[in-house]
Amino acid sequence: MRLATLTEPVNPSPDRIVWTQSLFREINDRVKPQDLALLREDPDALLGFVCECGSRRCTELMLMTLDEYERLRTEPTRFAVLPNHHFDQVERILERNERFFLIEKIGHTAEIASERNPR
Ligand SMILES: [Zn+2]
Repeated sequence: MRLATLTEPVNPSPDRIVWTQSLFREINDRVKPQDLALLREDPDALLGFVCECGSRRCTELMLMTLDEYERLRTEPTRFAVLPNHHFDQVERILERNERFFLIEKIGHTAEIASERNPR
């Protein structure tokens, strides 16, 4: 669990968490032209994506290959967050590595995540 800040509730509601995550997902889903140029040279290049955790104060970047990112986006209930940026009560960890945790929404917020899927 990450540290709360003064402008954010200590325990944001499950709905608030998933709305925040959906917003960051929309931002990440716009792959930039300069990224595509980089990928033509090196398909395994690490790109910077915004952490998709439920904290509105978090705008930290995590590194993923485009392949990792595309696999993530095949499931609308899944998000990628920086290590330990998950909220135990509303999501579970499917995979973890030193760069990011792959998480899946549980409970009714999984439905919200699916409804707000930009793809
Ligand atoms: Zn985060």
